[in-house]
Amino acid sequence: MNAAATKTNLLDLDREGLERFFADTLGEKRFRAQQVMKWIYHRHVTDFAEMTDLGKALREKLEQHAEVVPPKILFEKPAADGTYKWLLGMDGGNAIECVFIPDKGRGTLCVSSQVGCGLNCSFCSTGKEGFNRNLSTAEIIGQVWVAARHLGNVPHHQRKLTNVVMMGMGEPLLNFDNVVRAMALMRDDNGFGLANKRVTLSTAGLVPMIDKLSEQSDVSLAVSLHAPTDELRTTLVPLNKKYPIDQLMEACVRYANRKPRTSITFEYTLMKGINDDPSHARALAKLMRQLDNRVQRENAGKVNLIPFNPFPGTQYERSDDEAIRRFQTLLLDQKVLTMVRRTRGEDIDAACGQLKGQVLDRTRRQAEFRRRLEGGAPAQDRPDAA
Ligand code: SAH
Repeated sequence: MNAAATKTNLLDLDREGLERFFADTLGEKRFRAQQVMKWIYHRHVTDFAEMTDLGKALREKLEQHAEVVPPKILFEKPAADGTYKWLLGMDGGNAIECVFIPDKGRGTLCVSSQVGCGLNCSFCSTGKEGFNRNLSTAEIIGQVWVAARHLGNVPHHQRKLTNVVMMGMGEPLLNFDNVVRAMALMRDDNGFGLANKRVTLSTAGLVPMIDKLSEQSDVSLAVSLHAPTDELRTTLVPLNKKYPIDQLMEACVRYANRKPRTSITFEYTLMKGINDDPSHARALAKLMRQLDNRVQRENAGKVNLIPFNPFPGTQYERSDDEAIRRFQTLLLDQKVLTMVRRTRGEDIDAACGQLKGQVLDRTRRQAEFRRRLEGGAPAQDRPDAA
């Protein structure tokens, strides 16, 4: 048997998993796990021989049983505005994209959770590529690792990477365990040391999984709403047929009640003549007020307006600046905290909904994925879940 095949990629393990690996597989003290994490995540070292504060015997044992393998960079590209995009190779010819967006005093990394996406939202180019498989924990945290090394990021000292948003390719709640494990590494002091609220998971609205997330993780939640009525939302986000808006808002009430210190972000992509009418703004404001009333707190939800980013073959257009301003003003008038997301990285196709990577063998898996989703199978049973 190939010896390498039996080695554990340490990027697949969160702190607890790594401590167990040290104790159970290597017969070592658990705290060694933290030393190794600092080498990997603070100093970007992958070669055990360079981990000089570990004894020679331990380094040899690590060589034998473990490896640190980040995703392969196939291509990297800076945009005129400082945005930076990586195309990362996964197995079997697949590739995913990951984008760094620097801004005043902060640096946000947009991370992918799946190769492609099976939800098929009509305005998203990732959906058009189809679904291939879930990413492993190593492939998710590996995106942060690649960016951190490129930036020379050192948690607590040289902090270039301050926020992570799970808003790249894929639906993170359909890859629950691997995403939760990777988000734990992002927030671990021996990992990337990010504050809980600076890690955001964005979902198209998988109601049961929102509840599960609130029980198992402490991150910020973003919900891709895009329309205030079921009729319209179903045409944009087909998942709405299974989890309509009232059920989604109920899940948000429960989430907000469990996480009293953070507000939920509602993403709303503005498309000309589709969902940018003043009547949509008023209906959206009403949903936000209802949420505040239910959880008895102001700004339990806030709105992030995203001007639509076009891609080849799309039937949608970006709303005019005037319509965007009017939409925002109507919401602000109703005391709804509302931001307009500035479009970044457009010249390298790195903006929201423009990530497409390379998704091979998608048709067969896509059909299977849909069948399971419609059957309501738990995430672990879905194709390629770890
Ligand atoms: N599946 C998750 C995360 C990926 S998309 C989700 O649905 O939330 C991240 C955000 O970009 C979502 O709000 C998504 O609806 C939005 N988006 C997708 N395509 C877009 C486009 N072409 N223009 C602007 N925003 C888009």
